[in-house]
Amino acid sequence: MWATGKNPFLSRVMAVRRKGRAPMPRGASVRTTISDIAIGKFVQIWFQTAGCVWDRMGQCTMCDYGAGPAPNVNEMISVVKQAIENARREEPLGVLYVSPSGSFLDAREVPPRAQVEILRAMKAVDAAEYVFESRPELITPDSLRMVRNELDSERVVIETGIESDCDWVLRYCHNKPGMPEEFANAVQVGAAYGIDVVANVALGAAFLREAEAMIDARRTILNAYRQGAEAVILFPLHAKQNTLLADLLSLGVYRPPWLYSIAVLLLSLPTSLRRKTEISWYRDNSGSLPAHASPRNCGTCDVEAFLLLDAYRSTHDPAHLRAMVSSTCECRSTWLQDLTINSGETIGHRLLRDYEIAAAEVGLAFDVEVPPMVRQQLVDSVPGHLLGREQGLKSMLDAASIGTGPVHT
Ligand code: SF4
Ligand SMILES: [Zn+2]
Repeated sequence: MWATGKNPFLSRVMAVRRKGRAPMPRGASVRTTISDIAIGKFVQIWFQTAGCVWDRMGQCTMCDYGAGPAPNVNEMISVVKQAIENARREEPLGVLYVSPSGSFLDAREVPPRAQVEILRAMKAVDAAEYVFESRPELITPDSLRMVRNELDSERVVIETGIESDCDWVLRYCHNKPGMPEEFANAVQVGAAYGIDVVANVALGAAFLREAEAMIDARRTILNAYRQGAEAVILFPLHAKQNTLLADLLSLGVYRPPWLYSIAVLLLSLPTSLRRKTEISWYRDNSGSLPAHASPRNCGTCDVEAFLLLDAYRSTHDPAHLRAMVSSTCECRSTWLQDLTINSGETIGHRLLRDYEIAAAEVGLAFDVEVPPMVRQQLVDSVPGHLLGREQGLKSMLDAASIGTGPVHT
């Protein structure tokens, strides 16, 4: 049997998958993007590290951040400080986001001296909000005391990539370690230090179909707010290079989310929560590498749909979302067809069929890698919100006030 929470099969698939990947180039570097948001300029600075430790362990079926030699810590500090200094030119500076492609608070990735120096440099720049990313289990009284010593500004936010709050989805779809309760703990610790801990929630996990992914994302968002999250950011997934999603896409068993689905998911949230829920990375150009496929509709209406999501992002006016879901484009009916739930199919058995396809693609023997007892455990432990997906989809569509026609077979 597999140890609790572990998925050695997906870890092996990812290890094989990442073996041929080119390492990140040697040296220290940063990537900066600037966009407009309601409170001013949003400056995002990503800096290079040796990569996330979980990436090296074969985790996270959707992640393309990569790994490479650890940069010299002095060079790392120097290039990040310069990028932060450059952010001063952006006025008004709404959000200053500075993060590695992984976890800021992981000393194996960002040495403690670099954490301190980077936070100090952030504090020296006047921004309405300061943000970095870290995994929830690294948010502890000790780590936040250090953050507060260096960055005592009013609004400090830590984004945590929880993806889903369902341990079955985390284990069998994302292969992302972590326990759902870690986020609730992180929120509480954050509150004690006056730091908002925000949940980054994924839409479009490997092995889930369109409606299932929406149901899981909605449940995760609602639970994150119940656990005290100040805000949630929804990330529709892209099938990026060097990810399992890209393989599943080429094998015909994956499609990134429809843009309609993003709109419906947001519309289905209670108004007070929708206002606090952001969307990010729905556009093709937001990742670190070009994606094989990105969230999209049919191609013909994508430009208009992206503009509607942009308009929603900067105003939070649901009229933009409603305009999208009442589109007259022909692809609306194809999307509704994609939402159709095949009541005769069990999720667990379908997932195992997809595992078999994924195993063959990387030359692994499915029967050996996923023994019968594990298969049975996987099938028997499908969570209630996915077993009850017909009802979950209906509730979501009702909450979003979408008239769709039939959604069952
Ligand atoms: S998704 Fe986050 S935790 Fe997972 S490998 Fe990528 S950076 Fe690490
Ligand atoms: Zn269309």
